[in-house]
Amino acid sequence: KADIAMYYAKGEGRNNFQFYTPQMDANADKRLLLETSLRKALDQHEFRIYYQPKVDIVSKQITAMEALLRWAHPTLGLVSPAEFIPLAEETGLIIPIGEWVLRAACIQNKEWQKQGLPRMRVAVNLSGYQFQQRNLLEMIRGILEESGLEAELLELEITESVIMQNPDFAVSVLNELKDLGIHISIDDFGTGYSSLAHLKRFSINTLKIDKSFVRDVEVNSADAAITTAIIAMGNSLNLKVIAEGVETEGQLNFLSENNCDEVQGFLVSTPMPAGEVAAFLRERCGADSWPIGRETAD
Ligand code: C2E
Ligand code: MG
Ligand code: MG
Ligand code: MG
Repeated sequence: KADIAMYYAKGEGRNNFQFYTPQMDANADKRLLLETSLRKALDQHEFRIYYQPKVDIVSKQITAMEALLRWAHPTLGLVSPAEFIPLAEETGLIIPIGEWVLRAACIQNKEWQKQGLPRMRVAVNLSGYQFQQRNLLEMIRGILEESGLEAELLELEITESVIMQNPDFAVSVLNELKDLGIHISIDDFGTGYSSLAHLKRFSINTLKIDKSFVRDVEVNSADAAITTAIIAMGNSLNLKVIAEGVETEGQLNFLSENNCDEVQGFLVSTPMPAGEVAAFLRERCGADSWPIGRETAD
């Protein structure tokens, strides 16, 4: 085709060329726009944190609120973390952005606790780059002190693939985090090839079953088998097991029948702004039935 030319891919060897298409131009433009504005986003207060509850299946208590980052871009609107977290990681901006999220989430939970809301953790997603950050422990300790939040009320979600990149290193970092009293969850569990031998060495509290297994758990026998195996393994290792992405009563029933401890997903609530959390908790206080998924998308 006439509009296809070759170009040298950035950062790759001179002999590594790719085919060029006009679509790449548009993608590159958007990427450059995102990268330039990502640098200013923190200073300009464009980041927002939404919170999504985790619920104990049996007691129906809220155990934690997961902080999920959104970017209110002045012209592009709300940008999803799937679009800008990878960019933040490539540019190193994930370090200051991640620290901002952690601080804001801890301050927010301390505020909820002061308001007399139920005792619950705030869960923050930690990027692999943060996990490897040399002053991670110091940074977290500083934020806990500054915010006045008890370490038990902070939870960190670290993906299985990040931990498995360097299991020996992970063991030592997880031990230090555990000594602080922080709750640790392995996010997207089931997608990262953990061996049982490694799992038993990690100081962790919770396995979070990836939503890709939960989606078809009622109709796909392989997904059902993986899900029940993770729950059984978690139970026998004395870990809590939570399922993410729970959208239907059917999925909830399956998880409940198979002794999963907690659920999180649109069935309970979509992620919400911090200001809506108190009302959400008030509404469901003492409620017997599961709240239906909220209409609004994030
Ligand atoms: P994650 O931590 O595994 O979060 C789960 C994602 O599933 C969230 O997407 C959440 O909004 C979405 N979700 C929740 N319930 C349901 C459901 O019932 N059905 C479906 N289909 N989806 C559901 P979100 O908010 O777009 O975040 C995507 C990913 O971005 C997160 O995956 C996490 O890895 C990353 N992320 C978000 N905030 C942060 C952050 O502050 N720091 C870092 N490093 N990563 C973050
Ligand atoms: Mg998470
Ligand atoms: Mg997850
Ligand atoms: Mg996930």
